[in-house]
Amino acid sequence: MKLLALNCNQCGAPLEVPAKAKFVTCNFCSTQLSVQRTDKVAYTEAIEEIQERTRQMSEDLKHLKKQSAVEDLDRSWRRRREQFMVRSQQGELNVPSKAMATAIGTVTTIGGLLWMWFAMNIGAPGPFPLFGVFFIGTGIFGAMRMSAKADDFRRSHRAYLSKRHDLLS
Ligand SMILES: [Zn+2]
Repeated sequence: MKLLALNCNQCGAPLEVPAKAKFVTCNFCSTQLSVQRTDKVAYTEAIEEIQERTRQMSEDLKHLKKQSAVEDLDRSWRRRREQFMVRSQQGELNVPSKAMATAIGTVTTIGGLLWMWFAMNIGAPGPFPLFGVFFIGTGIFGAMRMSAKADDFRRSHRAYLSKRHDLLS
């Protein structure tokens, strides 16, 4: 039988291994070794190390997958967030909020009341004071819509955060 002269890669002891053997146990340190062959050389490697390397690789792969899933989620949330944005009177983009809804409702109600008070005071004819009612109605409608949008946004944001949390845990 042809023998290969190798060394244990744990303790360095010389080993004689049958040419076709895949595994061998070191006589000196009892490490279980795998016989690796390339075109030109043969060498031994501790089986535990191979297992550890394989485990590490699959761990790394899992980590990478997780990372890219989180990045995808973040990207899609940024897009969704942009769709929610509303432009303020100062021209800035903001996410919808209850405070914004309250501000719209308050400003238009006060404006409408002032209009009615003013129109009646100057004795404007019939329909003019009523425009104030229309103004207030439009404002309240706008406030309700903004409030619904704010709820919608909060729900979406919460869903995004909990999904992200699940991905990371
Ligand atoms: Zn050894």
